[in-house]
Amino acid sequence: MTFYKKEVFEKFDKALGKVWEELPLAVSHVRISNGNSKMGQVPSVSLLPIYTCPARCKETCATICYAAKIANMRKNVRESYAINTVLADYAKHTFFKEIREFCMGQRFFRWHVSGDFINYDYFVNVVEIAKTAYKCDFMVFTKKWELVNTYVDRGGIIPKNLHILFSGWSDPELKPINPYNFPETQVIKKDMAPNENWKICGGNCYQCGCKGLGCWQAKKGDVIAFYEH
Ligand code: SF4
Repeated sequence: MTFYKKEVFEKFDKALGKVWEELPLAVSHVRISNGNSKMGQVPSVSLLPIYTCPARCKETCATICYAAKIANMRKNVRESYAINTVLADYAKHTFFKEIREFCMGQRFFRWHVSGDFINYDYFVNVVEIAKTAYKCDFMVFTKKWELVNTYVDRGGIIPKNLHILFSGWSDPELKPINPYNFPETQVIKKDMAPNENWKICGGNCYQCGCKGLGCWQAKKGDVIAFYEH
């Protein structure tokens, strides 16, 4: 099933509409997940998938997006993502303040199990939170490589506790533009053999974090690979 289709977008639109109608932004709070089977005990914040992803995803990863599948199936997940998406765009002070305060007491945090940076200003806030909550390690995958590249082009320094991975795909359209050589991720499609230089995802981000493995320690030139769901 492709998730870049009218019915799925109608569900996402409805969830966004409900936020606008029923939740005054002034009293809304960011929804932080306390982890799941993949993340282990790593808390995370997510946005609506596809909506916040770059247009280049439309014909590629969006067709089999796992996050979109979950958001399509589970109303409570979809509604949490919708609340976060609206807050991040229209009440960003609340959104980033609550995440910053939460992360001050955390060891690990993952941005975007679903979704991507909304815009450049959003990305700058992600960097600033990592600088402030310097005892917490942050992980984020992105297909909006240009936002990160622009930040570095302008002389921005990525803090060591912010682990950014440029998310790739077997389609040439989604080969990361990566002049600063950030670590990348790749999906191993069902008909594909992994490249022998790739590191295969260990399956539990908390354990990787505790052992200093996987994305938390990926370096320039590394590729972390995931089997297609
Ligand atoms: S390699 Fe480890 S840290 Fe990276 S996604 Fe897989 S389980 Fe998570």
